[in-house]
This record gives sequence, C-alpha cells and structure tokens, in this order.
Amino acid sequence: MRLRNVRGSRETIATNEFVIKNETEYRGTWKDVFGNDHPVHIEIGMGKGQFITTLAQQNPDINYIGIEKYSSVLVRAIEKQEELRLPNLYFIRMEAEYIADVFAKGEVARIYLNFSDPWPKDRHAKRRLTSKEFFTRYDQILQSDGVVIFKTDNRELFDFSVEQVPEAGWRLVNVTYDLHHSEYIEGNVMTEYEMKFAAEGKPIHRLVAERG
Ligand code: SAH
Repeated sequence: MRLRNVRGSRETIATNEFVIKNETEYRGTWKDVFGNDHPVHIEIGMGKGQFITTLAQQNPDINYIGIEKYSSVLVRAIEKQEELRLPNLYFIRMEAEYIADVFAKGEVARIYLNFSDPWPKDRHAKRRLTSKEFFTRYDQILQSDGVVIFKTDNRELFDFSVEQVPEAGWRLVNVTYDLHHSEYIEGNVMTEYEMKFAAEGKPIHRLVAERG
C-alpha cells in the first residue's frame, strides 16, 4: 500500500497511551496489560483499524491488539480509540515477522488477516502473511484450538493461501469464495478495504485455518 507521510504520526504514536511501546517486554504477560484473563485476538496489518475497533466495541470480553507497520495508517486507528477509549483495545506498530518475540506460546486465541499485501512476485512469497513461514510463526503464539481467519479480494493470494495451509501442517476449517453471498455473512464485520471492494462488486474470499 502506498502511503503519504502523515505529519507528526510518529510523534503521536510514541506518546499515545493506546500504543504499546517496547512490546517484546510484555511477552508472556499480556493478561497483566489488560488486567484480566480474557482471550486475546489480534489483527495483523489492521490499517486504519475499522474492523478491530468494531469487534472491540461488540465484544467487551475479548481483548484485541491491532498490529500495523505504518504509522501513517495506525494514527487513524489511534484517533478513533482516543474518542472511544475502549479498555480492551491496544495497538502495536511493528513488522509482523517478529510476532513470536511479542507473544508467548498459547497467548493468542485468534489471528485475523484482512486484505494482506499480495507480494505478487514469486521471490517475495515468504513475505505474504499467509505463507508457510508465517504459519510457523503463528504456530508459536496461537493456543492449541486457536484459528487464523483470512479475508481477501485477491484470488491469486487466496489460492496460494489455500495451498500453504496444509503445506504448513495446518487444516482448512472452511473456505468461502464469495463470503458476502454465503451462509457465513451473518455477523461479518467489514474492513475498510472490504467495503471498497464489495462496493465495486468484487467477491470476497475467506478461509479459516486451525492446527492439523
Ligand atoms: N486490514 C485493513 C488494511 C489492509 S491493507 C483492511 O482490510 O482494510 C494491508 C495492511 O497491512 C497495510 O496497512 C500494511 O501496512 C499492513 N501490513 C502489511 N504487511 C505487514 C507486516 N508484515 N507487518 C505489519 N503490518 C503489515
């Protein structure tokens, strides 16, 4: 995603109470951050955060952490949370490759991936958030009955992902090529990208994966 440089976003992030700094220091102690032992669900690559913020509003008994590498979009999620001040929502600005340094084994109950960058070149396949390399990282943080839920409009990335799940030793719980016209639409919370692509009439693909 191409981004303009939002003036002051780095400074906002450095001082904001809803952004966790030195995130690796909390590995194994996320319960203490939230002050309860509710399950922790994370979204990797949350962008402006509409999806995770909506979920946090709907589910006060689940703790949410939104992960995003770019300050310029993260700052939009922070602005919203500044108004809402939800106690069950925090953000981390980081590169997802290092996710296992931030969460200990079993500390995460669910991982959401929404409209992840496609990295279309073969030589960049390892950077895709649904590559087997990333599933190995998710394996290190997800509780035994935890799931990864991935939505995209990108058919090439989706087909790749459907192949990677079993290659990584995981199992596909379900696969939907047109989420908005399927039985799984009930309760679906749309992301910013999803609203845009759905408005253009593009089908939204979704898979749910668990450990094999
Ligand atoms: N989930 C949002 C945004 C999708 S765009 C939505 O559906 O509307 C993908 C987002 O993921 C971008 O904001 C990008 O910066 C972020 N991202 C991509 N790869 C990442 C990585 N390796 N680590 C952290 N964030 C990443």
